[in-house]
Formats: sequence, C-alpha cells, structure tokens
Amino acid sequence: MTITRRKFLTNGMAGVGTVGLASWSLPAFAQGEIMPKSGPRVVVIGGGWGGATAAKYIRLQDPSIEVVMIEREPVFRSCPISNWVIGGLKEMGDITVSYSALKTKHGIKVVHDTVTGIDPGRQMVRVADGMISYDRLIVSPGITLLNDEIDGLDAVGRAVFPAAWSAGAETQQLREELAAMPAGGTVVLSVPFGPYRCPPGPYERTSLIADYLKKNKPGSKLIVLDSNEKIISKGKLFKAAWDAYYEGIIDYRTDNAVIKVDASTRTISTDFDDIRADVGNIIPNQRASDTVDLAHLRPDGRRWCPVNPWTYQSTIHPEIHVVGDATDATTVGKVPKSGFIANSMAKVCAAATVALINGEEPARPSMANTCYSLVSGTEGISVTAVYDWDDASGKMAAIKGAKGLSPGRFEIVAANADDWARAIWSDMLG
Ligand SMILES: Cc1cc2nc3c(=O)[nH]c(=O)nc-3n(C[C@H](O)[C@H](O)[C@H](O)COP(=O)(O)OP(=O)(O)OC[C@H]3O[C@@H](n4cnc5c(N)ncnc54)[C@H](O)[C@@H]3O)c2cc1C
Repeated sequence: MTITRRKFLTNGMAGVGTVGLASWSLPAFAQGEIMPKSGPRVVVIGGGWGGATAAKYIRLQDPSIEVVMIEREPVFRSCPISNWVIGGLKEMGDITVSYSALKTKHGIKVVHDTVTGIDPGRQMVRVADGMISYDRLIVSPGITLLNDEIDGLDAVGRAVFPAAWSAGAETQQLREELAAMPAGGTVVLSVPFGPYRCPPGPYERTSLIADYLKKNKPGSKLIVLDSNEKIISKGKLFKAAWDAYYEGIIDYRTDNAVIKVDASTRTISTDFDDIRADVGNIIPNQRASDTVDLAHLRPDGRRWCPVNPWTYQSTIHPEIHVVGDATDATTVGKVPKSGFIANSMAKVCAAATVALINGEEPARPSMANTCYSLVSGTEGISVTAVYDWDDASGKMAAIKGAKGLSPGRFEIVAANADDWARAIWSDMLG
C-alpha cells in the first residue's frame, strides 16, 4: 500500500481535531537562541530507549541533518535488567552506559539539561541557558508516576516506599533495603493498574525478590498487591514458576490496589487490609511524562499522547513526533510499553523524519518486540510479536504466526535476555 503525504497528515489529525489548542497559552520565552542553525535540525527530548535510538538512526540515515539530543541525566541507566540488580544478580554499573559514542561516533550534540518549555509555533524548546530551534521535534520522555492517587505517597512516603520504576537511585535503595532486612521480614510490592510501563516488569521483580529471599532471608514473605484482576502478562508462565519455586514465600493478591501508605508506621493499606512492611515497593499508576504537557501533546483527560503510527507525528502538533512509553496504544495498536517497542517506534520515526525533511514519502512501518523476564536466578520466559501496518484500522497489528510465548521457562532464555540487553544498548548508544 502507498500513502500520500496529504493522507497521512489527514490520518494524523483524525479524531482529535484541535483539542486543547484554544485553551493553551504559551509560557513567556524570554531568552534567545543559543545554538543558531545552519541547516535542517531535529531536536530530541529524552535520551532513553526511544530518544537515543531516534537520534542515532537519523544521523545514520542522513548525516546532513543536525541532531541535538537533550537529556537531563548524565548517563543512561537501563530499566530492563534493573530487576536483576534488585534481586542481587547484577550491579548498577552493569546497567549504566555512557552517551559518549553518540557524540564522538555519530556527531550528535548531546545537551545535558532539562527542557522546561516547548513553543510549537516558533518551533523552539527552552533549556536553562536559552532557546534551541528545530525543524522537527521528537519527544520520548517516558512516564510520570501518579503518586497523588495514593494517600500519603508524598515526598516522605516515596522516600520510605520507592517505586524504582526508572532505573537509578531508587533501584539501588530497594536493593540495599532487601539486603539489610532481617530474615523473617515482610516485603510488600504493589502492581499498578494497566496500562503502565513494562507489563511483565512487576512480576519479574516478584520472582527475583522471592528468589533472593528464598536463598538469603529464610522465613521471609513477599506480599504482592495487584490492582488488576490477574497477572497481566505471561500469567501462566509466572504462576507455574511461583508454584514450583516460591511456595510459602509469595502471597499474591488480585484486585488489591493500594489506596494509602503511612511512612511513620511503614503501613500499606488496601480496601481489605493494613500491612506493615519491612520493605515496601509501591509502583503507582502512570501516564505520559509531564514533559509532554509543555506542548499539550496529551489531550485533557487522557493519560497518553495520540500519534499517527505511520510516522509517530503527534495528532495535535504534526511537526512534533512522540515515541516510547508516552504514546497512546489506542492510536498505535496493541503494543506494550516496552524498551524494545520504544526502540522500534524510534526507528520508524527516524526514517519518517528523514523522509519528511527531504520532501519524500515515509515508508510503510513495521515493528517488533520481545520481552524477556527472569523467573529465578537462572531461568527466563519470553513473549514475542512482530507488527505490520493494518489498513483497516490504520494502526499497527501483530502478524499471526509471528508472535507467541516461550513454551516454558529455560536457562537459555535467561542467557538470551542478558545478550539481548547488551545488544540493544549497543544498537541505541554504541
Ligand atoms: C523494572 C523494569 C523492567 C523493564 N524491563 C524491560 C524489558 O526487559 N524489556 C523491555 O523492552 N522493556 C522493559 N522495561 C520498559 C522500558 O524501560 C521502557 O518501556 C522504556 O524505558 C521506554 O523508553 P522511553 O524512551 O519512552 O522512556 P525512557 O527510557 O524513560 O527515557 C525517557 C528519558 O527522557 C528524559 N527526560 C524526560 N523529560 C525530560 C526533560 N524535560 N528534559 C530532559 N530530559 C527529559 C528522562 O531523563 C529519560 O532519560 C522495563 C521497565 C522497568 C521499570
């Protein structure tokens, strides 16, 4: 199928119209341009799975395009494999990668700063020192945790009950709290309502914490408070492993959303129980990062950003592209919020961005995903899908016969997971 530019721009706006534009007033942009342009420029906000991939693949496809990537963190820390750190199988250093190859090998201008404003009209973003202009903007800022939905989960509550849902200081904190906990202790882990970042992530974490408790903290328990009515990814495979290995350790409870925490007594409450936790890992509900609201890319009342999945153009501002977890799967197709998908979306988006800048038609998209999860220190499970464009829905759809679960849990899948992570970090950042 071919698609004309008129058609994909029209598709991009379908169903959304100009939501929010009328009520949107721009912040004052006082400072001037700090990086004058001499040719076509793409600015990328976020140097995570989507942003770093998009930045690199634009430069690989057209080195005449200048790419400026703005990322507030000094180094990349990977969420995939961060559960392995919590379970004591890896160290933070094993999941940390430098941004230096993006600069030296690919000529990307990496700015370590926080974007505090986006002016879609003037096509500029604001950082601490002033403004940076763009021809096209790619936004891949990840998620915001909705801490406010849980009573008591303010800054004090978060310090006691970390989410560790972006790899970093909270990952290390959770690891150290588990190591310091006396044998016979109680760990509580909460699972948010979907859709959230990494559907199998909380269940992999459950497995690896249970594995650690079994080996190092006899008599300890792990209570899992799942907001959902069942395990929402690879359910049978996780359950089979938990039954085989963690009988008497994992206490898994469905329809048990956390509604309140009390940091002073270390108590976590649901509609049914008040539980005192020696270690508490509260993962709140989620939506697209606050950064998308700088350009009103998330319509009022919606949690995620609608996009045209042919190009990842925002349906609200077509000169801005959104990729990664921040995108609304109801507009993309049934894809999970995973790093692999963010990487895949970013490649489609990079190719489309290069085509648009050069006055060409973006090519038909295709995407892939494999999510690996460890169920013990040595065995893994996986789920895979390949996606193609579906004319009928105007979205991406999994290809029948090119998707499925691993038939069981295997050591080779755990080894594949380790290899996959190192290979994809190199694809994004090497
Ligand atoms: C525990 C855990 C395990 C996971 N395991 C897997 C797995 O095995 N496989 C898999 O495929 N996925 C996995 N994921 C999911 C994966 O991490 C996410 O889907 C992926 O990170 C999404 O990429 P992103 O680019 O949307 O966001 P991110 O990778 O979070 O990148 C966003 C970046 O934007 C930056 N940023 C945001 N706003 C601004 C701003 N205003 N200015 C400057 N910088 C900004 C942030 O600092 C961040 O670096 C896991 C997630 C978790 C939490």
